[in-house]
Amino acid sequence: MPSDSLLDASASRRYNIPMSVFWNTRTRELSPYIPGEQPQNRKYIKLNTNENPYPPSPKVIAAAQDAAAESLRLYPDPECGAFRHAIAERYGIKDAQVFAGNGSDEILAFAFGAFFENGEHAPPILFPDITYSFYPVYARLWNIPFHCPLVRPDFSIDAADYRVNDSAIHGGAGGIIFPNPNAPTGLSMPNEDVLSIVQSHAKLNRVVIIDEAYTDFSDEPSMLTYIEENPNLLVIRTLSKSASLAGLRAAFAIGNEALIEGLRRIRDSFNSYTVDRIAQAAGAAAVLDAPYYENVTRKIIATRERVAAALSGMGFTTLPSSANFLFTRHPSLSGADFCKQLREEGVLVRRFNTPRIADFARVSIGTDAEMDTFLNAAL
Ligand code: PMP
Repeated sequence: MPSDSLLDASASRRYNIPMSVFWNTRTRELSPYIPGEQPQNRKYIKLNTNENPYPPSPKVIAAAQDAAAESLRLYPDPECGAFRHAIAERYGIKDAQVFAGNGSDEILAFAFGAFFENGEHAPPILFPDITYSFYPVYARLWNIPFHCPLVRPDFSIDAADYRVNDSAIHGGAGGIIFPNPNAPTGLSMPNEDVLSIVQSHAKLNRVVIIDEAYTDFSDEPSMLTYIEENPNLLVIRTLSKSASLAGLRAAFAIGNEALIEGLRRIRDSFNSYTVDRIAQAAGAAAVLDAPYYENVTRKIIATRERVAAALSGMGFTTLPSSANFLFTRHPSLSGADFCKQLREEGVLVRRFNTPRIADFARVSIGTDAEMDTFLNAAL
């Protein structure tokens, strides 16, 4: 359980409201995720939440405009039929192997609830100590025990820590989740290692969730081609990053029909209409406009490589990134001072004040002009 000081800090940091007698025990004990800042007061160069600096495809804007019509008086299709069909068509799978959701955070929350056992006697799920900071929040919300193997000193994930029969977890985990590429490091694990983890948990009927929020920026192809032979593999993708649609809130999961039905059972125990009409229409247009987005992704990767090389010339330590961000350490400033300096120059980046990575900054890849401003402000 989190300490009181942690609880107070997170509550007051958000809204400056102290612990309330109206909160039940669950609400009192939560330590909610703190999203990256979305400043409303000043115009910053925003390199802090891995948004895409390029606009969505014109076909997506047109689809959203068409959907913003009289029909908004009607509820959306709860099964997101056309959106799921577009995804199935794009990736060569069946509609029944696709689940659509209101951003991947929502699908992640559903997946934790659908597939991981809860209660103090449940086998702990595994995710790395350095990873997406929403995972422990979901685990605590659902009361799912978890264990976090340490990433290696070079910040890579050791697949052996996640396989049954390797020393770290003798009896197998309650389930596994990690992003590939990982966040905030940007490092990617080869698919054969991911597959070895999936297969090692298959006989135990444990689900392995691969969060592919950043996979379009990676050389490693998506794991979605493995779902047919691996019924315990769930792949989660988002339109927030590579499809320039963070503001739309649309994402999807791909897996065996039974996993998709599990997600649907949880969704329909909360809210059946999570993806609105505009998001379904625009989301479908986005997944079907691959050429536009391949071009955008190529540009971001080229900028990433240019900025990584420039940072290395400036003496920074930068991890090799397979994502749309760089994880980098200033040659002499602390992480806090580095981020403060950038902010004063009008550039926002993200820092995680946690062990081993407090001196690193996660810098989203913006346009070339934005990244030049960042590089000028960085020394
Ligand atoms: N997974 C990872 C690893 C992420 O970094 C993010 C972005 N914060 C998400 C999931 C959630 O993305 P969204 O809800 O916008 O789809």
